Amino acid sequence: DVESQLQSVRDKLSPKGNIVSEAGRQRTIAVFGEPLSPQQVVERICADVEARGLAAVLEYGQKLDGKQLYSSTIRVSEEELRLAHEAADPQFLATIREIRENILRFQKAILHQDVEVPIEHGGKLRQRYAPLKRVGICVPGGAAAYPSTVLMTAVPALAAGVEELVVIAPPTSFGSYNLDLLATCVEIGVKEVYRVGGAQGVAALAYGVEGIPKVQKIVGPGNLFVALAKKHVFGDVDIDSIAGPSEVVVVADSTATPQYIAADMLAQAEHSPGSSVLISWDEALIDAALTELEKQVAVLERCDLTVQSLIDFGAVILTRDEEEACRIATDLAPEHLHIATQDSEATAEKILTAGATFLGNFTPVAVGDYAAGPSHVLPTGATAHWASGLSANDFLRSRSVIHFTEDGLKAIAPLVTTLADKEGLTAHKRSVTIRTETENG
Ligand code: NAD
Repeated sequence: DVESQLQSVRDKLSPKGNIVSEAGRQRTIAVFGEPLSPQQVVERICADVEARGLAAVLEYGQKLDGKQLYSSTIRVSEEELRLAHEAADPQFLATIREIRENILRFQKAILHQDVEVPIEHGGKLRQRYAPLKRVGICVPGGAAAYPSTVLMTAVPALAAGVEELVVIAPPTSFGSYNLDLLATCVEIGVKEVYRVGGAQGVAALAYGVEGIPKVQKIVGPGNLFVALAKKHVFGDVDIDSIAGPSEVVVVADSTATPQYIAADMLAQAEHSPGSSVLISWDEALIDAALTELEKQVAVLERCDLTVQSLIDFGAVILTRDEEEACRIATDLAPEHLHIATQDSEATAEKILTAGATFLGNFTPVAVGDYAAGPSHVLPTGATAHWASGLSANDFLRSRSVIHFTEDGLKAIAPLVTTLADKEGLTAHKRSVTIRTETENG
């Protein structure tokens, strides 16, 4: 039946890459002396960092990442940043600058603007926006280096006007010892980089420890420990979201190019885990795309991992027609939605639940991942039903400003006094009537 088949596709989307590997479990036992759930691990680390500060941060860096750091070396020095920038390939830096401009242009264009609404009988109401002052960015560094993550989180924050941007990355060759990552930070103006990752990094940012002042908001992706730690500290600081592993749903008709579709599905599967789902009402297109998948996967560098990802988290759905395809895609609410139909703009209007939508033959998801302008930090696991991708607006806070004239207050007073009477809050009522029932308000 359709519902149970759909459920099996839902299960494949947002693969639980969040499951801890056997090596991870062994590490937990080695560090904590007993098997603990990831939730318990994170609670312990956060409580420890809150209580003991930097000493706990340094200890977990040593135990979990095998790197002994000190209060003098946990922050990447100005000299190290300068040297990394000098050593960087000029072409790489030029690329970073160009992408930064693309992101800035888009993110500045979508920034919320102050709004002013007049009050009918006198006065005005305003909504004012101001940037957060200090923001922490988690950059993963366990399995690969991600200069693109720095761009896709820090540049929207800069577009919003955040003054202090702090990057944390684990003390690994893919993290805060990665020269390209450090050069990227310098190029876009991030001056504070700390060699700390995982839950201890999130806790350090949230509570503040000696040498790492507390931030107001923590953004950026990470493994399960980072995700759970962000959840744990929410309330002490703001967070962006809990992003899981990557996923794409491709909706295609007979006009689509099977080679392109296969290439896009492989680009997600390569994340390993990453899920790719193809939905079409054209059987010939599905056959051609599957043939292409087999052909193209064979020559990929990460062939084995990608094949496994496709087996575990890939799916193909043949629907009766476009309407059914759109209904299913809407229900799945994927992180990335690629539409390759004759009129992709029209199809897109029928699927409103996706983190980011990519239209037509010439907009592969990778262009959004790396260079277009919207952030690649997007809602996964069907949370696009209610969540949005990261943007410059996530680095603003709003405040309302309310200014009535005497006439304005007189006109609205009955609304206030009626409700104040109902709630029995007589001081509320009197604070209005003392003004409206005398001459000098
Ligand atoms: P990471 O850098 O997020 O975390 C590594 C840290 O986890 C280590 O420093 C360590 O402190 C901690 N850790 C590891 N095992 C632990 C254990 N047993 N107990 C306690 N702490 C432990 O790790 P990563 O492996 O690079 O994962 C990054 C994730 O982020 C991947 O899933 C990747 O696909 C994803 N990602 C997403 C985006 C995006 O924008 N959506 C971008 C880049 C990466």
